[in-house]
Amino acid sequence: MTLKHPWLTTDAADMPTIGTPIDTLGGLGDVPGGFGARLSWARRRAAAFRPEFASTGTPDSVTTCDLVTLPYPTRMGLFRASRAIAPFVAITNRMLVIRWTETDGRRRTLLFEPSDVELGRNTPYFAALARKFPAFVQSITVREHGDVPGHLRRLGIDPADVDYLLFDHLHTQDLRRWIGVTKPQADLGGEVEAVFPHAKVIVQRDELVAMADLHPLQRPWYQPGTFDDVDPGRFLPIDGSVVLAPGVAIVATPGHVMGNQTLVLNTSTGIWASSENAIAAECLTPQHSRMPGIAKWSRAWEQEIVLNANTLETTAGQYNSIVLEKTLVDVSQQDSRFLQFFPSSELTPMWTNPGTSPTFTHGHITHQTTTVPA
Ligand SMILES: [Zn+2]
Repeated sequence: MTLKHPWLTTDAADMPTIGTPIDTLGGLGDVPGGFGARLSWARRRAAAFRPEFASTGTPDSVTTCDLVTLPYPTRMGLFRASRAIAPFVAITNRMLVIRWTETDGRRRTLLFEPSDVELGRNTPYFAALARKFPAFVQSITVREHGDVPGHLRRLGIDPADVDYLLFDHLHTQDLRRWIGVTKPQADLGGEVEAVFPHAKVIVQRDELVAMADLHPLQRPWYQPGTFDDVDPGRFLPIDGSVVLAPGVAIVATPGHVMGNQTLVLNTSTGIWASSENAIAAECLTPQHSRMPGIAKWSRAWEQEIVLNANTLETTAGQYNSIVLEKTLVDVSQQDSRFLQFFPSSELTPMWTNPGTSPTFTHGHITHQTTTVPA
């Protein structure tokens, strides 16, 4: 990627500002000691932020949209814990549509994880996987539920009214069709008109820095070349955690990648967090998992979470970030053994993958508002 983002080299003070920085969750980089000290810090700070965040209010609406169900290696999704013989699990990628009203009455729309599924297939890891499997196997294991523009049409949302695109991180993403490009793209048939003419991509500055010079361990998951001709002005880089709107926060959760971030929502059913740090709610309370291996492994190794380990950039950091998420959220109203951690790629039962049927799934986030402004 040759994205020469003007904000990569300037002081944080010169960056555009969005939202309100969360002081309670700031300063991870200054924590003295090792990863253990950072774990205690994450637990303490997340507990302190919970009541603070709940007092910000709630957004107008939260809608869950299924995008695609696809195979994913068991050893990555369930780290070292699973004893299933199935080499693959199925995960369902979902988009969240969040809407709120600013104090001046302006309606805002944010899309979380609006992946361009079709172009995401070119990600080196998935392209290699597709070459290994015949088309008929893929037709059994891949299920497309709907694409981003189709879901918005169904919801009656004009793409021109979408203000923000937000991703947990930029693995697999190719955003050219969403935010447009500065010159014709041969592989996309020439001119590309942006589906979202006004949307800005909120991203951690660390993520842009990493993408500008990828390490070999990071490369299988990114499509950096697709960012070459994207207008840098379409990005809103942030450093750390911010409250964006009533009941809507972006929390820095470094580990899976350094610029990882988690969407945290306050709703009528309490606080939720959504990210790709784990693929099932039971990975945050593995003692309640009935999938073979999970509970026993977590007991034997005294690990309170099972992380989604497709990258090993900073495994201990990712562990700590999941504990932060675990501490932030409320207990599920459906089943008190599980937490309101909503995996943006959620483990999904499939007959082809014995031993990987989740004990519990969320499927969607529930948020009922009594008055939705017109
Ligand atoms: Zn990833």
